[in-house]
Amino acid sequence: MGGYMGKILRVNLTTGEMRDEATNPDWAEQFIGGAGLAARYLWEHLAPDADPLAPENPLIFMTGPLTGTAAPSCGRFVVCARSPLTGLWGESNSGGFWGPELKFAGYDGIVISGRAPEPVYLAIADGKAALKPASHLWGLDAYETQRLVKEEMGDRRARVACIGAAGESLVKYAAIMNDHGRAAGRTGMGAVMGAKNLKAVAVLGHASVPVADADALRAAVDDILQFIQEDPASQVFRLMGTANGVILQADIGDMPIHHFAGGVFPAAIDISGPTMSETILRRRASCFRCPIGCGRRTAPTRDPFATPGVDGPEYETIASFGSLLDCADLEAVARANHLCNVHGLDTISCGVTLALAYQMFEAGILTERDTDGLRLEWGDLRPAIALIPRIARREGFGALLADGALALARRFGVEDWAVHVKGLEVPMHDPRANIGMALVYATGPRGASHMDADVYMVDLGQEQEELGILAGNRFDQSADKVGIVIRMQNYHAFTNSLIACSNAFYGSHRWRALFAAVVGREISPNDLLTAGERIFNLKRAIVNRLGVRREDDRLPAALLKPLPDGGTEGNVPDMDALLPEFYRQRGWDWKTGRPLFDKLVNLGLNGPANELWR
Ligand code: SF4
Repeated sequence: MGGYMGKILRVNLTTGEMRDEATNPDWAEQFIGGAGLAARYLWEHLAPDADPLAPENPLIFMTGPLTGTAAPSCGRFVVCARSPLTGLWGESNSGGFWGPELKFAGYDGIVISGRAPEPVYLAIADGKAALKPASHLWGLDAYETQRLVKEEMGDRRARVACIGAAGESLVKYAAIMNDHGRAAGRTGMGAVMGAKNLKAVAVLGHASVPVADADALRAAVDDILQFIQEDPASQVFRLMGTANGVILQADIGDMPIHHFAGGVFPAAIDISGPTMSETILRRRASCFRCPIGCGRRTAPTRDPFATPGVDGPEYETIASFGSLLDCADLEAVARANHLCNVHGLDTISCGVTLALAYQMFEAGILTERDTDGLRLEWGDLRPAIALIPRIARREGFGALLADGALALARRFGVEDWAVHVKGLEVPMHDPRANIGMALVYATGPRGASHMDADVYMVDLGQEQEELGILAGNRFDQSADKVGIVIRMQNYHAFTNSLIACSNAFYGSHRWRALFAAVVGREISPNDLLTAGERIFNLKRAIVNRLGVRREDDRLPAALLKPLPDGGTEGNVPDMDALLPEFYRQRGWDWKTGRPLFDKLVNLGLNGPANELWR
């Protein structure tokens, strides 16, 4: 098959044993790559009784069949494991150049188990892997670690994925950082790495990825390059970054305000992509072979936020540290972003946990005695900025914030205040502004993740006609809307397996053309949806195996309260109607929350069917 290097590296950190094994061709065919293939490996090696931070929990780095080829915007990798934040399916993908370099080094993925007796890093160069001492790197930030490991690799082309202080301290939303500020942020994969005493994974190689039909690939790439010249979405992402739509998103209520309790944010323009371009932007940044280049390199200059070089901020961070905390100071947001990058923290979980703390401070549940003397007042980002390094090192009040919003709320008896699904903090797309997102969050295998289906983009015009994904009314709660959500989840389960960037709106037909050219297998729209459905249901089977039931498929109380004003005014999802319809269309069992036996078997998931229904 084109697209695959044909090898997975297996590493046991406890014993130091490493070996190559063939990438399972049947699994690659059924689960594509990326998160799909990682889910298949995790299913095989899952240790449901072990703590997610125990040596038994495998950590999986995986690329997709398009990674490292000329396919535009596909130079990504995913990291998967049982999440320490949720105890469930953990998944986070990242751009940059690390994923392609792993393939050039000869591997489709790495499956890591055990725990090293001392800190180590894994160095992979041209098909050879070695564990190297990393005690001298322990305690260094993510940027310094990347610099030094590159130096030790002896080649500036080496790419390094690593953890900062947050991963070392087992902060439950620690990120894995690569290519400076690129982050696999969500679900705490950095903490799993830290628990394994694994500081970094460095990759370097000179192989090329086999392609089934080079002429067809060239034609598919040309088509995309031509398309983006005229595509408004691609152009605004290129010119304004992912924060291009902040003003619109604030207007329609998509961008959360005041810890999900505010309806209007008049200062949205101050934290928008256009304002960034006119003020702190220094240059654009692209991932491997991406013609869009939505990345931003900024440099706030005003004290106390002055920072010579910040990778970001992108939209999720702007909202997490901006509107969510009532802050319209872009320089402050950029500074917070930088600290999260160097310490290796997920900006979404960090921002949502801090916003909860601000709310608790306002209510008198937290006082200055709890917060190391800091006054957490809405709109003032300085206390949040002071807390980020303390979270990363679990120091003082930071230790209370390091286990996420749900743990903080529980500790002070206000569990209902935490804005999370299954323990994962809700990202920056309010489901009251787009009802489809309510189901995406409630039923997502990793909890609340916009990366499992960005349904909000459909109603803004990003239709996939050949998949029956059509724009409609964003407040629609009908069975038709439920069907669109399901098809979007299946579509994204497929693209997260390719792995295609979710900021590249090339359309499903173009992803199919790239896949056929690289892998050498035509995939119809229906095949694409079936592959996605198989992957989505496998992830569901994993979380069922870890204890998830139908009762866990719910939204937090804050998102079921109507807001008095703004773009979502008075509108809330009716979960009592939406969820049964979702279960019916999905073929899931209402009593247990599991996919029905026949549904699993029809998707070729016989193992999970027997495991869940024996
Ligand atoms: S669109 Fe942005 S995030 Fe996606 S691959 Fe391109 S530069 Fe990277």
